[in-house]
Amino acid sequence: MAWAVNVVFSPGGKVYSFDPNGLELAWDERVICGTSRGPEIARVVTGNHEVERSPRDPALRPIERRATPADEERVKENRALGRKAMLAFRDVLRERGIENARPVGADVAFDRSRIALTYRADERTELRGISGPLSSRLSCRVEVRQVSPREAARQCGGGGMCGPVRCCTRFPSHEQPITLRMAKDQDVPMNPGRITGLCGRLRCCLAFEHPVYRSFRDRAPAVGRMVKTPQGRGIVRNYKVLDDMLVRYRNEYQRAGLNGLNALMDADEGEGLHERLLVRVVGPQPELEHSTHPPSWGTFDLSRLDDPAAQARGWMSIESPDDGSVLEVGTARLAGGVLVQVGRSSRVRDELLGNFRAHAIEVAIALVLLAVGGGIAIAHGALAPVRDMQATAGTILRTRRYTARVPTRGTRDPLDQLGARINEMLGQIETLVGGMKGALDNVAHDLRTPLTRLRNVAESALTSGQSGVAEEALARAVEEADRVSATLTALMDVSEAEAGTMRLNREQVALDAVVREAMALHEDEADDRRLSLTWTGSPELTLWADRTRLRQVVANLIENAVKYTEPGGRISIEAVDRGHDIALTVRDTGIGIASEHLPLVWDRLYRADPARSPRGLGLGLSLVKAIVEAHGGHVSASSAIGGGSVFTVTLPTARPQDPHPLTSS
Ligand code: ADP
Repeated sequence: MAWAVNVVFSPGGKVYSFDPNGLELAWDERVICGTSRGPEIARVVTGNHEVERSPRDPALRPIERRATPADEERVKENRALGRKAMLAFRDVLRERGIENARPVGADVAFDRSRIALTYRADERTELRGISGPLSSRLSCRVEVRQVSPREAARQCGGGGMCGPVRCCTRFPSHEQPITLRMAKDQDVPMNPGRITGLCGRLRCCLAFEHPVYRSFRDRAPAVGRMVKTPQGRGIVRNYKVLDDMLVRYRNEYQRAGLNGLNALMDADEGEGLHERLLVRVVGPQPELEHSTHPPSWGTFDLSRLDDPAAQARGWMSIESPDDGSVLEVGTARLAGGVLVQVGRSSRVRDELLGNFRAHAIEVAIALVLLAVGGGIAIAHGALAPVRDMQATAGTILRTRRYTARVPTRGTRDPLDQLGARINEMLGQIETLVGGMKGALDNVAHDLRTPLTRLRNVAESALTSGQSGVAEEALARAVEEADRVSATLTALMDVSEAEAGTMRLNREQVALDAVVREAMALHEDEADDRRLSLTWTGSPELTLWADRTRLRQVVANLIENAVKYTEPGGRISIEAVDRGHDIALTVRDTGIGIASEHLPLVWDRLYRADPARSPRGLGLGLSLVKAIVEAHGGHVSASSAIGGGSVFTVTLPTARPQDPHPLTSS
């Protein structure tokens, strides 16, 4: 047998046994121990106690001395150095752009010869070449080490989900792995919220309490089961550890005497079941006295255990004069006047509650502040998109430009989607306003030229005083006025058609007649310029359309083909019945249109290439498109410079309200 004390170097750290070195040490005392890494400060978790050791076991290292106030001061300074080391660690990680490693803690050796910095990362991550710069910054040897999530949580400390300090920080580390089996044995629902701790791994308390539950489950009937007792039948409602111990120890003592009781207690201790229990057997003869309890429980007045009145009641409470903790003891009386007593101290529970009470108000204030601050921050964050919209609207009102957009974050929440919709709307308004402005500019430009010419003609007629000149000028003035009037009429037609207000007098129209009329208008010019003009289309083809407007469409397309085809070229017009609609195509071998201009030829007042094209209003195709679309059809064009052009308009054959073309009249 040898004397030993158990110590831990950090809260919840591994427990080490040391030789007390002649000192009488009690629980919670602070001591300086010699370790392979130099002197370290430690806290006693089990005071002087005897341990069985064989001569082959290596000698226990001795405790050097009790810690002094100067040592405690040094611990404080080391903590400050640890905080500095953490800042330096964060700086170096940031400088190197390492984002996946998160610093956890700094452990400064008591003699400051070494600092161990720990970090966590989702995957195995080695931080190479980082200890050198840190060592020179902190003027001390620095080791950098990755820790598991459980170890990181232990080092961070703080409260667990149940309230008191986390098990991983408070209690010595457990050797055995924590498994789901443990949760099952303890009837804990397999719900991640109930079985995982703050570190994301299975809770440590599952392991600490497991031996008690396992031992119970091995012996006790399940809760809710009907059982027979000497007092009659009953249902198991819950488990009481202390009662259970008392009954077991009493029964064992009755069965196998003191030796049997000792064997059972040893077995339980091996399983970690009654570490903190007092067990006492008192007989009528003094030699039957047997008592075991943790050394620090000496502060309770244990002589009260012999109080006959309390023994008769079955339960007694003994208060410690030192710290007010209570020892609850149950007494069972056996035949022959032997008493078995089992007790449990409330010290650990009181400590937890004391800690909790001491910090409850601070925690409550912090929580209220956090809730208010968090609420403000969340409300501020949630309203950010609304503020952005307000700012965008303000910019548009101030600058009168529609180029500003609401910033979107791509989060797809309703406010973000609203921002995206507003942006779409702004885009359409911008296009519309731009289009209107462009059209107005074009109209102004297109009207200014004929009006200026008109004015010049009139002026020259007035100033010349010759009757022949005046007549000619008047004739030219009429021509220019017609041109202006034609432009305005075409523009108004296009606007009406685009706005959906164009009146269409629909009727059954034979396409063949309309095409032939339009061709007749251009026959002379085609002859003059040696253009071949051909039409292939069945005379039966009919459309439900406005005859006048249809004439405008066909005439414009043929006019363009004639206008933009070199002498000797070919123009062919064809129509194909496709069931629901008729496709009318005007194909020429003319000058063609460059691909960058092609999509724009349908715009109002657009002339593809004024240098190459004969003069026109630039309204023909926009009118064609507007009329065709007002009829429910659509237009398309393909062309290449020097390779001719193909314009196709597709018009529905049936009346708009008719469900099928065959039913049209
Ligand atoms: P315009 O009165 O100028 O002909 P349009 O709206 O009818 O106006 O046509 C727009 C532009 O498209 C024309 O200026 C011309 O450059 C081009 N274009 C139209 N039809 C043809 C064609 N068959 N061949 C080549 N260019 C054409």
